[in-house]
Amino acid sequence: MNPIFSNIQTSVFETMSKLARETGAINLGQGFPDGPGPRDVLEKAADAVVNGWNQYPPMPGLPELRQAVARHYAEHQNVSLDWEREVMITSGATEAIAGALMALITPGDEVILFQPMYDAYLPLVLRAGGVPKFVALQPPHWRFDEAMLEAAFTDKTRVVFLNNPLNPSAVVLPREDLDLLARFCVKHDAILLSDEVWEHVIFDGREHVSALSIPALRERTVKIGSAGKIFSLTGWKVGFSCAAPELFRVLTKAHQYITFTTPPNLQTAVAYGLQKERAYFDTMRADFTRSRDRFTKGLIDLGFDVLPSQGSYFVNVNIAPLGENDDVDFCMRLVKEHGVAAIPVSAFYAEIPVKTVVRFCFAKRDEVLDGALERLAGVRG
Ligand code: GLN
Repeated sequence: MNPIFSNIQTSVFETMSKLARETGAINLGQGFPDGPGPRDVLEKAADAVVNGWNQYPPMPGLPELRQAVARHYAEHQNVSLDWEREVMITSGATEAIAGALMALITPGDEVILFQPMYDAYLPLVLRAGGVPKFVALQPPHWRFDEAMLEAAFTDKTRVVFLNNPLNPSAVVLPREDLDLLARFCVKHDAILLSDEVWEHVIFDGREHVSALSIPALRERTVKIGSAGKIFSLTGWKVGFSCAAPELFRVLTKAHQYITFTTPPNLQTAVAYGLQKERAYFDTMRADFTRSRDRFTKGLIDLGFDVLPSQGSYFVNVNIAPLGENDDVDFCMRLVKEHGVAAIPVSAFYAEIPVKTVVRFCFAKRDEVLDGALERLAGVRG
C-alpha cells in the first residue's frame, strides 16, 4: 500500500466529530453551520432532482453554472473570466485541489505550503510527487514576510499553495502581502494555487481580494471556490476551479479522470444561488458576524485569550495563559471532561507546530453557542 496514506492518521475533523458523537459533546470542531441553508436554493435542487436531468452533465460543468460563476466573480471580485476557457465545476474544492496538484506537479517539483495548512494539502502534494517547502506562520498575526519567502522559494519552486482567508487562523491577508507573494511567484515562474473557499465569509467590511484580480498573478493562478461555503451547505461538494486557458486545459484533463462530473441537480441549484442579489451575501455575513461576536464575547467574559476572527467559521483561543502547552491533550480533556469538541491547531502543521492554539467553530445557533460557553466556564474553574 502507498505509505503516504497507510501511515496517515484519520483526519482530525472526523476524529473530533466521532468523539463528539460518542460523548454527546457540543461539536464546535469540524466546521459546518447548523442552519438548514437557503430554502430557495434547496428547493431548486429538489426540483432539479425530480424534474431535471439526472444523467452525466458535460465534463467541465453545466454551462449555466460556469456562466454564473464567471458573472458572480465579475460582480463581486472584479475578476473577468471566460466561462468556456477558464471556469470548471468540480466535486468540491478538495477535488479541485487534488486535480490541480496532479495536473501541475511533476515529481520532484517543490511546492510551498504555508502552515497552518488545511489537513488535506500535504498528503495530496506528496502523492502528486511534490516536495514540500514549509513557511510557518505564527500567532497572533499569522503573516509572512520577505525573508520567509526568500528562504522558501528556489529555482525548483513550481507551485505555491495559499489559503486566503486562512483556515484555521481566521485571518485575511492584507493586499500588500499578496503583492509581495506575487513578486516571488513571477520571479520564480511559479503557479499560485489559491484556495479561496472562505471568500464570502469575511467580516467587518473587509473585501475579498482574489489572487486572480492581481494583474501579475492573473495568468499564473488557479483560483478555487466552494458553493458549500458560499451557501452554508458544506455537504454539497460543488467546487469551482478557475484559471487562464493554458492552465485550465490541463486542469480539465485531471478532472475528467478523477470524478469526470459533479451531480447536475446541485449544479443547477448553485447556478441559481450565485445569481442572488448582494443583499443575500451581506445578510449571510451579518448573521455569521453576530454569531462570531456572541461567542467571542462569551469567551472573553470567561477570561479566555481570544485571537480575533477576520473570516471563516472559526475563532481561536490561545491556551498558553491557562498554563497549557499541548493543544491535543487540552482538546481531548475538553471533549471528554467538559463536553465541547474543538480542533487543536497543531493538526495543521507538519513541522514546528504551534501547540497552544485551539479552534472553535462559531457557525451555530445561539443556544448551541451559549450551551458550549456554559460548559467552557468549567475549564476556567
Ligand atoms: N473544512 C472543514 C473544517 O475546517 C472540515 C472539512 C472536513 O471535515 N474534511 O473544519
